[in-house]
Amino acid sequence: MNETLVQGNSGFEINELDAEQAQQVAALQAFLAFHQQFDRETKALAVARALAQASLERLEKGQPIAKYNSANIADLVDQKVGPDGATAWLSKVWKALEQSLAERRTGIQDVARQAGTNIYAWPKKTPGAGGAGNSSEYSIEFLSLPQSDNPVVTPQRGEITYVQELTLKPAFWARPLFKKGFPLKGWRRTSFIAFGVLVLLAVGGALLLTWLALNNPRVSSSAKDVAVWVLFALMVSWVGYSVLKPFSDLADLRLIMAPDVMVGFTELNVQLELARERPADDEPYRVLRLVRYSAKCAVCGETVHLAAGKREFPGRLVGRCSEQPREHVYSFDRHTRIGKPLR
Ligand SMILES: [Zn+2]
Repeated sequence: MNETLVQGNSGFEINELDAEQAQQVAALQAFLAFHQQFDRETKALAVARALAQASLERLEKGQPIAKYNSANIADLVDQKVGPDGATAWLSKVWKALEQSLAERRTGIQDVARQAGTNIYAWPKKTPGAGGAGNSSEYSIEFLSLPQSDNPVVTPQRGEITYVQELTLKPAFWARPLFKKGFPLKGWRRTSFIAFGVLVLLAVGGALLLTWLALNNPRVSSSAKDVAVWVLFALMVSWVGYSVLKPFSDLADLRLIMAPDVMVGFTELNVQLELARERPADDEPYRVLRLVRYSAKCAVCGETVHLAAGKREFPGRLVGRCSEQPREHVYSFDRHTRIGKPLR
C-alpha cells in the first residue's frame, strides 16, 4: 500500500500525510490512470486531466486543493484565449466534459475502488453569482464510492482487471428509452414484453398469411407466386429472429455484445448488459445498459476490449488486446472483473 502511494522521485513520503489526504492522492492517481488508459484526446477531457494533475501536485506539496477560474484553466491546457475569451471558451468545453464524465463515471469509480480508496475524484464547477469578478470556479471534489456487488480481487501475475469503462449513449433512436439505462419495471417492463409478443405475433401472422396464400389457387397459381410467398415468409422470420435473438441471449447470459443497430456509429466494442440494481429504499430490479468493459493488457499495456469468442471460445466473451488481438487474449469474469490469460 505504501509503495503505490509514494510519489515518484519527489521523495515525498505517505506518512507525512494524514489518512484523508492519502485517500485523495490515491483517488486522483486512479482518476489520471483511468484517463491515461481509456481516454479520447478531446479538449474537454484534457481540462479534466489538467485539473486533476494540478490538484494532485498541490496535495503532494502539502497544500490544500485549490479552485481555479477559467483563465487559470486555459493556462493549464495551453489554450490561447484572450483575457475576456476564457469564460465563454470554458463554459462550452465544460458542457462537453459533463457529458463525457457522465459516461465515464462507472469507470472512474471502478478504478478508484480497485486502488483501495473509498472516495473518487470528480471535476466540479461552482457557478459564480454573475457579474464582473464573480465568475465560476472549477475544482476537484471527492465523492464517496457507492456500494458495489463486485468484490475487489487482486489480480495474480499475468491477469488483468476489467473496469466498466463506459456507460454509453445508445444510437439516436433508442436514446429516449435508454437515457439512464432501461429499468425493467413498471410500464417499461410491460412495454418490453409487449414488444416481444408483437414481434412474435407479426411473424406468426406472416406465416399464417403465407400458408393461406399457398392454399389459395387464385394468389399462388404459378411457381413464381409460390416462390415470392416462401421468400416473404423466410424474410419475416429472419427479421423476427434477428430482433428477438439478442434479447433471449441476454436473458440467458446477462451480458452480450450489443447489436450494432443499438449503438452509435462512433462506438465500438460495446456490450448490452442486464444488470441488477439494488436501491436501498426499493425492490431490486433489472436494468438494460449499454456498457463497455475494458482493461489494461498485462503483457503490453495496451487496452483490452471484450469481443465474441467466435469459434475458438464458443459462447464466451473474451478480452482481446487492441494491439495483439490474436495473442494477448484473456477470459472475462463479470463478477470478480478478473481476466486470466488464455494463451
Ligand atoms: Zn497486449
